[in-house]
Amino acid sequence: MIAYLEHFVHGNDTESPPNDDVSSLQSSFHFAPNSIASKDFGGMKSSTPLAVLRPYTTADVVKAVKAAATTTNLTVAARGNGHSINGQAMAEKGLVLDMRATAAEPFQLLYVDGVPHVDVSGGALWEEVLKRCVSNFQLVPRSWTDYLGLTVGGTLSNAGVSGQTFRYGPQTANVTELEVVTGKGDSFVCNDNQNSDLFFASLGGLGQFGVITRARIVLQQAPDMVRWIRVIYSEFEDYTRDAEWLVTLPEGDGFDYVEGFVVANNDDPCNGWPTIPMGSNQIFNPVCLPSSAGPVLYCLELALHYRKTARSSEVNTKVDRLLGGLRFVEGIKFEDDVKYMDFLLRVKRVEEDAKAKGIWDAPHPWLNMFVSKSDIADFDREVFKKILKHGVGGPILVYPLLRSKWDDRHSVVVPDSNIFYIIALLRFIPPPPKGPPTDKLVAQNNAIIQLCYNKGFNFKLYLPHYTSQENWMRHFGDRWTRFVQRKQNFDPMAILAPGQKIFSRNQLK
Ligand code: FAD
Repeated sequence: MIAYLEHFVHGNDTESPPNDDVSSLQSSFHFAPNSIASKDFGGMKSSTPLAVLRPYTTADVVKAVKAAATTTNLTVAARGNGHSINGQAMAEKGLVLDMRATAAEPFQLLYVDGVPHVDVSGGALWEEVLKRCVSNFQLVPRSWTDYLGLTVGGTLSNAGVSGQTFRYGPQTANVTELEVVTGKGDSFVCNDNQNSDLFFASLGGLGQFGVITRARIVLQQAPDMVRWIRVIYSEFEDYTRDAEWLVTLPEGDGFDYVEGFVVANNDDPCNGWPTIPMGSNQIFNPVCLPSSAGPVLYCLELALHYRKTARSSEVNTKVDRLLGGLRFVEGIKFEDDVKYMDFLLRVKRVEEDAKAKGIWDAPHPWLNMFVSKSDIADFDREVFKKILKHGVGGPILVYPLLRSKWDDRHSVVVPDSNIFYIIALLRFIPPPPKGPPTDKLVAQNNAIIQLCYNKGFNFKLYLPHYTSQENWMRHFGDRWTRFVQRKQNFDPMAILAPGQKIFSRNQLK
């Protein structure tokens, strides 16, 4: 392996004489099998990296990027937990940095102006951050993803969205400092005062500007318990009205978590009513549905945090007051009281179940997008009620987010609309021949995207995936110039994150 690396780095690169960085790379790295970086969760792309390196420190990341910079063709992809769908963390014939090697350190609590923060590694999983923060400090981050088997660096390179985003913004809005290794191989501490452009560029930056080796995350007191509730709507208008009301309530007056999803209006075990109850002791009674209900139903999912010292009458009163303002279908309501940690780890149970059924490792042609409030009713009519009326074999998320919680200085782009909806088609389908061909599902995703363009919807892809620069320019719109400028400043040889397919190596030189 090392001989091969030497051959590639020098043998293919007559312009670059051997130097110390490259030799130190060969002698001082641990290598992982290439196979770990040749696939991702999407299961639709594969690539063969030159080598997978395990950096244990920021200095190791610096060494690897500097070594690649001495060549004319080598690229470097930081790989978080490889939970991308379309090969975004891959590097064909390049170096992949297995960031999980850095996961354990740093882990440090500190107070900034009296507010608790934790410094964690870019390679730490959110699940690890949760468990360590609760057990060591009884404190937790404020903004999450639904599934916590994702790395800090991976979600901060996108946004990190869940049912707390309406209140605290995406995870990128809950970070006050980063340590980043740029594409020039320089390591910087950055925040909104110091190296601020690198800080803002890296948040939602699709890994284009640097490798995030450390993040400083805002913490709050850990709640003990969660009242977890699901209510059902037959009318999309009622659903969106209530969801939008809930996400605009002032902090302290509303729920702590607001999400929602679409199900087929039938008893299909993967796509219909049976997916709504939260436990086997709960039963969905379709008799309560109005006869006007269409092909799909909408489920609003809510959670209220509380301390175990709270009196249940206080929790009940608050929940009843909030639910009293909603127009869900009477007679269909599910609720449960669960430990806060169990609530945050709820998708881990889905993972275990999906693994047992063999659909966790199957291809996942997922689609994530943000659609503005002004177009969401048309989206419902054209997409949920027509194209997806039988479901996607997994959750179809749709819930509102507030534009005011997103920072325009970050690299991620969202629709210009005070309220926009996240839509996520999270397909869990057995691989062919049991399930439909993956190409067909990808084609359905593309048809939905095309429909949005044709109808002139105000939308953006989340976790975007494009293969032409023209499409990337359209995605970023008037932010494209800034994106390119940032690339020129921080990764002028376009070494980093080649799997995003935005720039090619040396393109900007
Ligand atoms: P990877 O897939 O390994 O990497 C993603 C990109 O980030 C790549 O370009 C990579 O090069 C870059 N990158 C990785 N680490 C670093 C680093 N340290 N520094 C710089 N760049 C880096 N997203 C949400 O917002 N909310 C959700 O609720 C949610 N749930 C999900 C559930 C599942 C089951 C899955 C598979 C995905 C989910 N996602 C969700 C999407 C997820 O946030 C992204 O796919 C994320 O990129 C995956 O993180 P990862 O650590 O596996 O990153």
